[in-house]
Amino acid sequence: MHILITGGAGFIGSNLVEYHLAKGDQVHVVDDLSTGSEENLQQFANKSELRFDNADVLTWDGLDKAVGWADRVYHMAAVVGLFRVLAEPIKVLATNVAGCERVLRAAHAGKWMPQVVLASTSEVYGMGVYGQKADSADMMPAGATSNSFDPDSIPPFSEDMEPLVGSSSVSRWNYSISKLVDEAFGLSYARKYGMQVVVIRFFNTVGPRQIGRYGMVVPRFVRQAVAGEPLTVYGDGKQSRCFCDVRDTVAAMDRLSSNPESAGQIVNVGNAREISIIKLAELIREKAGSKSEIRFIPHIEAYGGEIFEEVARRRPNLDKFNRLTGFTHKWTLERSIDDLIARAREKGANSA
Ligand code: UDP
Repeated sequence: MHILITGGAGFIGSNLVEYHLAKGDQVHVVDDLSTGSEENLQQFANKSELRFDNADVLTWDGLDKAVGWADRVYHMAAVVGLFRVLAEPIKVLATNVAGCERVLRAAHAGKWMPQVVLASTSEVYGMGVYGQKADSADMMPAGATSNSFDPDSIPPFSEDMEPLVGSSSVSRWNYSISKLVDEAFGLSYARKYGMQVVVIRFFNTVGPRQIGRYGMVVPRFVRQAVAGEPLTVYGDGKQSRCFCDVRDTVAAMDRLSSNPESAGQIVNVGNAREISIIKLAELIREKAGSKSEIRFIPHIEAYGGEIFEEVARRRPNLDKFNRLTGFTHKWTLERSIDDLIARAREKGANSA
């Protein structure tokens, strides 16, 4: 197959590259290296099946041709990562929305319409925010009171739930606002033109080539534990997440896009295993055999004084995912952490 990956030098993108090259596909990557890096593709650089263009999808004049060549387009290019979203609130909206529209337009304009996989996010479910705001009546779901509300009442998020983004006056939500617009664009192309678009709502993803610089918790804790530095737990650490290994993620994305029944669908992609952030810190510290302390840091300090809303609990409902993929995850969280610790040690030893 001919595979075009926008944002292919990023974390999930470069794992898609690895996966499709291993399958024997031809892969074309376009990435402006804003958060992705050439290093992520270095190990594949000598493969003639891989082509790389350093360009911004918003302005790249090769986009129509590249999309016209492709049997499938993964549109992964976006401004991502909480620190970056907070630092570049305007770019998040402009790049994420206009980039997606350009890709869809090119896909529609070509001789045949490629399959399109659009990257969205579980941030659009936003609801867990209520768990941390239980003392503020106007932030609670209908029927809840400050005494009655508790995070246990937050259900796993399923695709047919009403999305819930927070106020546009809080920069963190610019990301989910941009992704909701992308979803609506993609699904409208699917409905109006019969384009085979699948929208993926990623839950927390971990694995090789993910970096902690933009805020992601697992690579940060792994680096801190291996370096013997304090593990920085934000808030009280009771907030919870479900982490999926990226190698499972990309295999599942391929299955989803290959299934014609996925066309026009929004699908959660993740893993159902839930863990609190404090337990995650303890697990990583134990796996690394590290003596690092666990240090609690208030959110306001962690995110530079920005008004911040924490997602208290985030779990995917995977019914649709299971139905469309029949997928069995191969990577447990423990196995992913062992692998990441080994890689961090190897990297540390090589750079020493
Ligand atoms: N987090 C933390 N310490 C860190 C980085 C993140 O405690 O050094 C917390 C963060 O506040 C959130 C969770 O870990 O509750 C997951 O954060 P991440 O940015 O990885 O993903 P998201 O918030 O988008 O789920």
